[in-house]
Amino acid sequence: MTKEWKPLNVAVLGAGLGGLAAAIAMRRNGHTVTVYERYHFAGEVGASLSCASNGGKHLKEWGIDFDAAKPIILKDLIRHDWKTGEIEGVYSLGDYEKAFGTPYYNFHRIDIHNVLMDTATQEKGEGTPCKLLVDYKVIDVNHESGHMVFENGKEAYADLIIAADGIRSTTREKIGVIPEFGISTSCCYRCLFRTEDVHKLGLKDFSKNEAIEFWGGNDKNKIVLSPCSDGEIVSCYCFYPAEINDLREDGWNNEATPEQLLATFPELDGALKELFKIAFDIKQWRLYVHKQYPYWVKGKVGLLGDAAHPQMPDQSQGAVMAFEDAAAFGYIFSKMFNFSPQDGLKVYQSVRQPRANKIQAASLRARENLNERIGWSSGAADLKDENRLTIEEVCSYNIKADIDQIVKNMGL
Ligand SMILES: Cc1cc2nc3c(=O)[nH]c(=O)nc-3n(C[C@H](O)[C@H](O)[C@H](O)COP(=O)(O)OP(=O)(O)OC[C@H]3O[C@@H](n4cnc5c(N)ncnc54)[C@H](O)[C@@H]3O)c2cc1C
Repeated sequence: MTKEWKPLNVAVLGAGLGGLAAAIAMRRNGHTVTVYERYHFAGEVGASLSCASNGGKHLKEWGIDFDAAKPIILKDLIRHDWKTGEIEGVYSLGDYEKAFGTPYYNFHRIDIHNVLMDTATQEKGEGTPCKLLVDYKVIDVNHESGHMVFENGKEAYADLIIAADGIRSTTREKIGVIPEFGISTSCCYRCLFRTEDVHKLGLKDFSKNEAIEFWGGNDKNKIVLSPCSDGEIVSCYCFYPAEINDLREDGWNNEATPEQLLATFPELDGALKELFKIAFDIKQWRLYVHKQYPYWVKGKVGLLGDAAHPQMPDQSQGAVMAFEDAAAFGYIFSKMFNFSPQDGLKVYQSVRQPRANKIQAASLRARENLNERIGWSSGAADLKDENRLTIEEVCSYNIKADIDQIVKNMGL
């Protein structure tokens, strides 16, 4: 006799973008969710986050308040000459929403993080509101029993543990996955400009362009600029060769100055250098290259987001892949199926590993070759690599169909 479907008691470890998305997906599908976060607030940092439709369609399905997230709808990718700033190429996203179901959103990370946190925890919306516990740093996880121990002395049990504790995941090691990683040849600054300041000083205004704009990208140097927060902020990522300062400090909070930015890119387009002088919230960090992990699930534990597939930022797909992971959890553990946590996790890994690994590999190739980035890659006929991603394959992906097929193949 088939067992009756029952809601699970789900623990999500980490309240970053991936963890909150997973909490919402599991709530929407009838489960009881507790999110455990090590910090007071989730430690989200500023700057833009572009969200292609393969993430956006899940945000839409979960009923997030898009207006509150103040997105810019991207229309184009624009390529500039490094020194003069002259436009060298425009890739129009065309009628992206018609083709792929949602617009190509560009959020400020903090805006989308706040909206996901509200959606997960508020009364409004389908499912039981998720409980968010802060100052709960997980220090031990037993994958067989679902027992968790936190640094504050508390303990808890769950039927299913979704480990969304980021690139330095503790839980990953607790299930026996020891990451092999090395420092990348690149580092990155990120900084912001206020559109109000840009107008006051009469500097070049990129806030109305509804585009991601690139300078360089054919070696380690690359500038990626885009507006967010209803155009009030313009965000800029500035990648540079690691040998310039061989940054070793870990984390996201290494402060930097406009002078450092200017000194790193002496030959860059003057319009950008003028903007660098009024940049605020400048941070710098080293990028790390992780080898793909042999497995992501064990017992009652499944890894999600950067804990499972940390990647270079050059496809703008890291958070979007975490949204796909979250959607996979929601559907696999929905009433459509009636999997035990262990069987459901096997399906999750079979569905998510090939897809995320392919995008992780393509993100690394795009680090020093802009032609590998989706959008630009669609037009680069000279690239013959069969692994090259196309915008269609990334953005029109149907996760439910993929899961249905894999469940069938697995004979479950
Ligand atoms: C320069 C740059 C630009 C990017 N741009 C984009 C983009 O445009 N589009 C895109 O899709 N992606 C982008 N990404 C990638 C994206 O930021 C990440 O993939 C995404 O934030 C990962 O989310 P996550 O929830 O898995 O991890 P995180 O955001 O790292 O969240 C992990 C959470 O777990 C908590 N935590 C950690 N350890 C513990 C513990 N022991 N106990 C409890 N809690 C714990 C942390 O405090 C944190 O809140 C970019 C990345 C970079 C570096």
